[in-house]
Amino acid sequence: MRYGSLTLAECERPMIRLICDKCGRKGQYLKTTLLKRHGPDVVMPDLLHKIADCPYWQPMRGGCSVRYDLTQAELDELMGR
Ligand SMILES: [Zn+2]
Repeated sequence: MRYGSLTLAECERPMIRLICDKCGRKGQYLKTTLLKRHGPDVVMPDLLHKIADCPYWQPMRGGCSVRYDLTQAELDELMGR
């Protein structure tokens, strides 16, 4: 049983995919690239904010729904829900 969200180092996927249901944006990033840019200790919810450069990204208004392109179970594990 885990508590809290996973760090990038703990994420077992070699490729991290993002998708936004609102604007249809998709992106994919190699884990090795993300490790170099953001370090192994960044937690996945924070990483999402760092790499989501969606044009509708407006955190204060909830304007963008960018998320990791994973199953709900995988999301729950990564995001510590
Ligand atoms: Zn968006």
